[in-house]
Amino acid sequence: MAAKNSGGFGSSAIAPADDSTSTLNAIPLTDLNIEEIELHDLGNTLPVGIICGDECLKDFTLNPYSADYEIALGRLVESNTDREGNLKDPVKVIKEFLPYVINTIGGQPIKDLAKNLSTSTSRLIEGMYWGDVTTLFLALRLQAQGFEIAMAAKCPKCGTLAEDNPKKGRSYHDLSSVTIKVIRDLTQKPLIELTLPEGFKVFDDTVTRLWLEPLKLYQFDRLLKSTSGNPKDLDQIYQMVVGIPDSEAYRNVRGQVFDESIYRALCTSPSGRVSPNKNALYKAVNKIQPGPAMWIEMDCVNPMCKNAWEQPLPWLSFREFLYFSADSDD
Ligand SMILES: [Zn+2]
Repeated sequence: MAAKNSGGFGSSAIAPADDSTSTLNAIPLTDLNIEEIELHDLGNTLPVGIICGDECLKDFTLNPYSADYEIALGRLVESNTDREGNLKDPVKVIKEFLPYVINTIGGQPIKDLAKNLSTSTSRLIEGMYWGDVTTLFLALRLQAQGFEIAMAAKCPKCGTLAEDNPKKGRSYHDLSSVTIKVIRDLTQKPLIELTLPEGFKVFDDTVTRLWLEPLKLYQFDRLLKSTSGNPKDLDQIYQMVVGIPDSEAYRNVRGQVFDESIYRALCTSPSGRVSPNKNALYKAVNKIQPGPAMWIEMDCVNPMCKNAWEQPLPWLSFREFLYFSADSDD
């Protein structure tokens, strides 16, 4: 069943299956058991998982590497690349590619799982949490190539190129130390209740609580394609606030419940200063985002600079990231 959306998202307004929040209890943010671990300790489990009835399906298996999958991925990338060579629709590639390479989730073949949830495999992927999807990409990379990754990037401070090359004494980086935030002991949808430091008014109601949910893949797509002109952090908050239980007007709204007028009210203290609500909301949004940090720590090779920085993993060059060997000399 597709949830109704409050509109404003054009053709991407269709939310995948099970997007309702009204019948669930929320987990207080203070009770949320989020743990940060390293990738090699994660095994084949998802940081959140797929909620199926009162089960949370976390274990997954991947199909062994096959050139067929790689070619399928290459085709998806080609058909989504414009004449200038830019990938137009990375989320489309992700949701159509992953069903090829995932064998099972929660012990169920991916096709059966989609069928059980009355959806298609690509919509199943689209409805997965962002952190689960990025974890699957790291797992695929590990399965295809192991932990070593050749990073190459310019130091943001001095511009010197740092390129991993064991023959020149620069060993490869190690994906196993990427940190991952996982939600432990989850038995329901991760609907998280934030209690705000001070109440604010929405029409006649005093609101002290917000319901938040980690970002899903289709929401990430909306953020990528957003033409709102809003700062990115605001667009993200609009996606992640999924309920305002104290508000008569917004209690049972599906789709986007948060907007600029609510943000304004939440952030403005009666004292005329910035409300502590704002800090609490931003902290919560950052805290409840499970999944891997998609970057690796790099050091500048220039002895005069010695800068260290966090370099994003080049995972959106999907085919290269997953299937091309690090071992090139030039
Ligand atoms: Zn430098």
